[in-house]
Amino acid sequence: MVVEKDIEEKIIGKKKPKKLPKKMPWFMPFMCDGCGDCVKVCPQGGIKLLGLERKVPSAWLIYPDYCIGCAKCAEACQSSAVQMTSYVEKAIERYKTKKPFQ
Ligand code: SF4
Ligand code: SF4
Repeated sequence: MVVEKDIEEKIIGKKKPKKLPKKMPWFMPFMCDGCGDCVKVCPQGGIKLLGLERKVPSAWLIYPDYCIGCAKCAEACQSSAVQMTSYVEKAIERYKTKKPFQ
C-alpha cells in the first residue's frame, strides 16, 4: 500500500519511524482539560484535539504510527492526562479503534 502511505505522509508532513518506539503516550481523556499543549510540542504532529464542539475537548493521538516515543506530550501535560506506557502495540490499537468520547 505504497500509495496510501505516501498520502498519509503527505498529510502529516513527517516520516513514519522504521521501528516501534519503546514507549507510547497513553492519553486519559477524563483528565484532559483541552489546553492543547501536547498538540503544540509533538514533533510528529500526530496529536489533535477532538470534540472541539464540546465544552472541554480532548487530546488524542490520531497518527499513532508516526509517534517516536519522545514523551514531549507527557512532559508538557500539566494535568497528568498523558502517561508513557510500554504497552506500545496495545496503545496503537487503542488509538486506531477508539476515540476519547466513546
Ligand atoms: S511521544 Fe512524542 S511523538 Fe509521540 S505523541 Fe508524544 S510528543 Fe508526539
Ligand atoms: S496537554 Fe494534557 S490537558 Fe492539555 S490537551 Fe494535552 S492531554 Fe489534554
